[in-house]
Amino acid sequence: MGDQGFLKQKPGFSTIAIHVGQDPEKWKSAAVVPPIVTSTTFKQPAPAEHKGFEYGRSGNPTRNTLEECLAALDGGKYGLTFASGLGATTTLISLLNKGDHLVSSDDIYGGTNRLFRKVAERFGIETTFVDFTNLELLEKSFKKNTKMIWIETPTNPLLKVADIAAIVKIAKGYDENIITVVDNTFLTSYLQQPLQHGADVVMYSLTKYMNGHSDVIMGAAVLNNSDLEKRLRFLQNAMGIVPSPMDCYLVNRSLKTLALRMEQHKKSSLVIANWMLKHQRIAEVMHPGLPSHPQHDIAKKQMTGHSGVFSFKHSGGLKESKKFLSSLKVFTLAESLGGYESLAELPSLMTHASVPQEQRAELGITDSLIRLSVGLEDVDDLIADLEQAIKLAFE
Ligand SMILES: *Cc1c(COP(=O)(O)O)cnc(C)c1O
Repeated sequence: MGDQGFLKQKPGFSTIAIHVGQDPEKWKSAAVVPPIVTSTTFKQPAPAEHKGFEYGRSGNPTRNTLEECLAALDGGKYGLTFASGLGATTTLISLLNKGDHLVSSDDIYGGTNRLFRKVAERFGIETTFVDFTNLELLEKSFKKNTKMIWIETPTNPLLKVADIAAIVKIAKGYDENIITVVDNTFLTSYLQQPLQHGADVVMYSLTKYMNGHSDVIMGAAVLNNSDLEKRLRFLQNAMGIVPSPMDCYLVNRSLKTLALRMEQHKKSSLVIANWMLKHQRIAEVMHPGLPSHPQHDIAKKQMTGHSGVFSFKHSGGLKESKKFLSSLKVFTLAESLGGYESLAELPSLMTHASVPQEQRAELGITDSLIRLSVGLEDVDDLIADLEQAIKLAFE
């Protein structure tokens, strides 16, 4: 299998993950593992003077450690963390003003779609949803007041791949002040680095692969532009969507094994996808690592590999989907993705139930579409589990 022709991984990723921001000389104890600082306030030597920290919402040593490491992993200058992925998104769209226009991928995380349609809209920010695999449609969607592009790639749950560099070029050609954001949750900085493809901001739900242990809700933004960083740092403090030091400690710890985890997710998911291609009950496998994927060439150009999330369609209907999902024993029937444990879900009734029926049909989110998050269990056990559940579903 080798590297499957994907972009070459730059050397040094794990060294950065393990050392950047974590220098033991930074704290008096010289602890090798960064301390968890829970104090909400910090002693000042004189009124309005401080040694870098004054109040826990505006800055915290454990949080700073994580933010520094996150920035370095994406090849960015600045990292900011938030109470959740949606908290990061809320803060990012708060860069916009009333009357501004946002262009977004049409097949995005359900909660992002809900935030744009049901919250941002009320504050006077209008969103147009476009299929970003169609660049002509994208070009037609710009307006005079377009201020931000929201890219999610690969998309959820259909795993469509959007060409980041091409989209950024079109957006900046229209108006160089348009802020381009990439939600990189599905891939992590190990598998895709949007800043290197020209994006202004990388956004994460750290809740998924970056933390990878399904025990923290957190979000992040990474960027290079110092003016944007100042505005976001202001909003982080002014809006108060900040994570706890305990959680920052956990995510910082998880980053140490990110490369190892992603390598295994990548390997196992491709083995399963290839097994599915040969299965008579499987009608379609949507996996960016397969040469049959419609945007496989774009994927190879901008990604260093694919993660453990992919979707497939079987030859049955809703009845078979339900039976299949409730027959699984190693995979857990649950929403979310990116943890060490394997998960399976039915987007039409679960993660994407809030997408209107006609839009679901148009996108191809049918009752026979199942999304998997392939975890770190032994791949033979995962395949045996899928096999027995398919057998029961079609009995
Ligand atoms: C989960 C997720 C989010 C939202 O993140 P939370 O941490 O749950 O708020 C955003 N984008 C994608 C792609 C996600 O999978």
